[in-house]
Amino acid sequence: MQALTTRSKVAVNKKMTFVERLYIPAILGGLRITLNHFFKKKVTISYPEEKREFAPVFRGQHVLKRDENGAERCTACGLCAVACPAEAITMVAAERKPGEENLYREEKYASVYEINMLRCIFCGLCEEACPKEAIFLTDRMVDTDYVRNNFIYGKDKLVEPMDKDKRIDVSKRETTETREFKTHPGYAHNKLYTKSLK
Ligand code: SF4
Ligand code: SF4
Repeated sequence: MQALTTRSKVAVNKKMTFVERLYIPAILGGLRITLNHFFKKKVTISYPEEKREFAPVFRGQHVLKRDENGAERCTACGLCAVACPAEAITMVAAERKPGEENLYREEKYASVYEINMLRCIFCGLCEEACPKEAIFLTDRMVDTDYVRNNFIYGKDKLVEPMDKDKRIDVSKRETTETREFKTHPGYAHNKLYTKSLK
């Protein structure tokens, strides 16, 4: 009969020799492999006591940044939500009231801003899309939990603290090159933003 696939193997029910039946060569072979690995440098670490150093471009938990005066930079434009391939971001926009200038940098702000960390794939596209330098991915890990609802991070977890000493450092990501890319007047997506700076 013709075989259905070229990958099929004919099983051979060969009788084991006396030495093979002792299993000693197989056991010694296994021990040799174990001993080889025993004296090699360990590739595992005892997390969480021991932590690996992250690459400068590691993409972890997001932060919504404040400006130098402590006002929230996000203007609820929705570009991050549009760019998000996992549809993990939702927000509700609100209008800033007189007297709230110290809280929100622009006339519009996000009264609700949520990221579903179970949907997020940490691609960083929200960061790239943001014209206001408001959202960044950081080197912080998202906490583990048993309750799914706890993975929906609202502003309480995303907006950085008002206290200047407790602000989240994103200097490694907020580089001159990224700023130039986002403000270069030659790119169509920057035209509106550069106009608003004048
Ligand atoms: S990192 Fe990617 S998947 Fe996560 S919220 Fe941002 S755009 Fe969406
Ligand atoms: S793109 Fe930036 S400014 Fe716009 S809603 Fe997202 S975080 Fe806020």
